[in-house]
Amino acid sequence: MTTNDDRSGPGRARVLDILLEPASLLEATPECLVVAAADGRIVYANRRAAELAGYPPEALHDRVVEDLVATEVPIAEAAPGTVLAGTCRRADGAEVPVEVHLGSVEGPAGRYLVVTLRDVSELRRGEAARFEAEAKYAALVEGIPAITYIDPIDPDQDSIYVSPQVAELLGISQREWLEDPYCWRRHVHPEDIDRAWEEYREACRTGRSLSHEYRMVHEDGHVIWVSEQAFIVRNERGEPWLVQGVIFDITERKRAEEQVAYLAYHDKLTGLPNRALFEEMLELALARARRHGLGVGVLYLDLDNFKLVNDSMGHHVGDQLLVQLAERLRGCTRETDLVARQGRDEFLLLLADLERGVGPDPGEDADVAVAASVAERVRDALREPFRLEGTEFYASASIGISLFPRDAQDGETLLRNADTAMYEAKRTHPGSYVIYAQDGRDPKEHLSFTTRLRHAVEQRHWVLHYQPIVDLADGSVRAVEALIRWQEPNGGLVPPGEFIPVAEELGLIEAIGDWVLGEVIRQHLAWREEGLEIPIGHNLSPRELWSPRLADRILERLREAELGPRAITLEITESTAMTDPERTLRVLGELHAWGIPIAIDDFGTGYSSLARLKHMPVDVLKIDRMFVRDVDRDRDLAGMVRAMIQLAQSLGMLPLAEGVETPGEYVFLRSNGCRYAQGFLFGRPVPADEIPELVRREGGLAPRLTVAR
Ligand code: C2E
Ligand code: MG
Ligand code: MG
Repeated sequence: MTTNDDRSGPGRARVLDILLEPASLLEATPECLVVAAADGRIVYANRRAAELAGYPPEALHDRVVEDLVATEVPIAEAAPGTVLAGTCRRADGAEVPVEVHLGSVEGPAGRYLVVTLRDVSELRRGEAARFEAEAKYAALVEGIPAITYIDPIDPDQDSIYVSPQVAELLGISQREWLEDPYCWRRHVHPEDIDRAWEEYREACRTGRSLSHEYRMVHEDGHVIWVSEQAFIVRNERGEPWLVQGVIFDITERKRAEEQVAYLAYHDKLTGLPNRALFEEMLELALARARRHGLGVGVLYLDLDNFKLVNDSMGHHVGDQLLVQLAERLRGCTRETDLVARQGRDEFLLLLADLERGVGPDPGEDADVAVAASVAERVRDALREPFRLEGTEFYASASIGISLFPRDAQDGETLLRNADTAMYEAKRTHPGSYVIYAQDGRDPKEHLSFTTRLRHAVEQRHWVLHYQPIVDLADGSVRAVEALIRWQEPNGGLVPPGEFIPVAEELGLIEAIGDWVLGEVIRQHLAWREEGLEIPIGHNLSPRELWSPRLADRILERLREAELGPRAITLEITESTAMTDPERTLRVLGELHAWGIPIAIDDFGTGYSSLARLKHMPVDVLKIDRMFVRDVDRDRDLAGMVRAMIQLAQSLGMLPLAEGVETPGEYVFLRSNGCRYAQGFLFGRPVPADEIPELVRREGGLAPRLTVAR
């Protein structure tokens, strides 16, 4: 068979013959080819088809094509040229998704069916995966509480996509959003839109991703906080093309954050800023002050008697006190000042932007003057009692003041100095305020009258003086009136007229009255020891009279001392008695029933009605000094005093003239039937130890009158 041609290799025609030999060509194609006769019997299947079906090639021969491939339309009925979706049944029983391309050729024994099978399992898998991914993505995008959107870079073009959550978050439909390029902008909070829009455009310009928070307004008007995260998609030229973003509702988180921030910077009980916030504000105030040459003041305040409330009335009452105090402190400062709670019963006041220079008082700086005036205001605010569970409680506070730049350059030192000054105030005079002084000068003490008075109550800086009351018949001393004086530590004696009204107002009077009563009883017993039985007049102020425990208190004291009721006489001014006559009548009635004598003091200065007076259980009518003075020289006065004496007598009361200073007055009173008198003419109020001598004096205290010849 070897020819020349053979040696020179096969010719082109020969090559074509070999290549075009049907079988070899069909075996080389990557397609799975099956040729079947008109009745469906397989006459040829290439290697690829056998592989797909999992059979040796010859094993496919004589099988029916429809055993091999199942299609939706039977292959025999389908027209050539159609493509059917089908399943190839493999020898091992597995099924492979295939695309079935149908063709036909004319052969020696008629028409043959050419079936090309394409394995589409990869494709299907990809499709399934894509479908799944899309479903997942949709579930994700449309299931999260967020708006997902795709916008063109051009802000004037319509949005491309928005998830349905716009309805829930903003109360608008997807359509509205998609058809209105300004929809988002219209729903951003007016206070945030400028910033949010600027940030959004910045991201579009630079292509950098965007992350910001702002407020949006729902169609129904409620405000939500959102967080927007977006990134820029670029086109094939690398230019920013689309914005893809998510807008989350973070209102809850914001609220929680605000709450946390609030709690971190505020005191839970009083709602005031706490020390941390105070320190931050102090730093800001100092920075401002340094820039503008201003002053800053720090007041450190500590309640003096807080422990007392807490211990005696319980913590919840102590808490009430702190809450009420916080409220009052807020009222003592300017809008720009800060009141903070430092802890327990300690508070801080920040006075910012203080003008410096000379203050209203020469020698005092303006900033010092302002700080001092705030401290005074705080003390004034504490003048009123606190109402705690139905009872009144008076609180005082010690205050330390420190000023920038006067005594410190930084916040920490300022606070420390104010603290030091506060302790100085507490140590020396609780209830006062002290201004810190760095260079070893004594801190300046500022004690208000009320503070000093409170001290006096605590330390009982009282003395009683006694004024003799004489019987005008013989000048003998029949009784004395106890008159209180306030012995100030620096030596002065303060008369009662100067502090009794204030003590009344401050609620200190009962404590004072208690002391007086105790002292009066003690003194009465002391004189009794000396063999003297001297009734003592005890003055009651209005508030004492109204005190529900008055009668019990007095009777108890008398019983304790084993004293009879006539040891004391209670003096009530006419105006007090007539303020609430019914009540007076009840209180006095009870005391009188126990045998305690009652005197109406300062008679003539109030507005008694005779009818009322008639029913009062009164033993002594003390005619006020106003009527006694010059009574012997003034005919009108003389008439009035005579009428008063007669009135007393007709009501069964003993008339007593107050403030007798001259012999003329004395003579007038005696000759007009006044039974008793007191006044400088007989004796000034004196310390207790001078009284026995006056009582024992031969001939009494009446003046010896020389009769002019
Ligand atoms: P009062 O009860 O009318 O006391 C008489 C006042 O007249 C006393 O003043 C006394 O010193 C003054 N006085 C007496 N004789 C004369 C006189 O001849 N000429 C002048 N110009 N004054 C005379 P004092 O001690 O300053 O007391 C003033 C008021 O203070 C008392 O008036 C009384 O209402 C009140 N007070 C005094 N002690 C107490 C007290 O222990 N408790 C209460 N609640 N009030 C008191
Ligand atoms: Mg009196
Ligand atoms: Mg009087």
